[in-house]
Amino acid sequence: MKPVSWRHIQSWSCIECGMCCKDYKVVLSVDEYVNIVKTYGFEAGYSQRNRLQIAKKGDDTCYFLTPLGSSCVCGLQYKKPKACKIWPFKVVATPKYGMAEQALYRYKNKDLYVYVDMACSGLTFGTPTDDFKYRILPEFIEVAADLRDTQVHSTSKINVNSRRVDVKKVDFKDKTG
Ligand code: SF4
Ligand code: SF4
Repeated sequence: MKPVSWRHIQSWSCIECGMCCKDYKVVLSVDEYVNIVKTYGFEAGYSQRNRLQIAKKGDDTCYFLTPLGSSCVCGLQYKKPKACKIWPFKVVATPKYGMAEQALYRYKNKDLYVYVDMACSGLTFGTPTDDFKYRILPEFIEVAADLRDTQVHSTSKINVNSRRVDVKKVDFKDKTG
């Protein structure tokens, strides 16, 4: 499915459906791969066609996906790979997926192009709200550009600590597109 411009999105909020952790493969950088296998063992990652990825469990879900009632949470939380942190958005320097004018996002005097994978269930379509445009989206852009690591508005609001999740793996599709 072709990504759409961010201007079609009214807002975004992760509903912890876990779809993106089931239907996609997570491509890792070399550093991410090394950190994961050092911490969780070689069974947590694998290499396929020269791409380093997070392993899947027998049910084809991500190795780190952790069911929590009717929700699904990431066992890595704040140490999840960058591809997961910026999903479902794609931040690129050129209008790679077309719609250049609509995809344009001016971030601190720099022209960027922001697209969205419509498969995410947390999207609300419509005219972007100010909160989405000026608070949520900039955080995704900063994570994509390695300007920040921590996430506040660009991740699920679930509080894993208060809900006593067994976050068994805490040191750290093709989601990158
Ligand atoms: S990012 Fe989207 S697809 Fe992934 S768990 Fe959240 S709502 Fe579901
Ligand atoms: S690392 Fe976390 S966010 Fe990424 S696919 Fe696995 S469970 Fe989902």
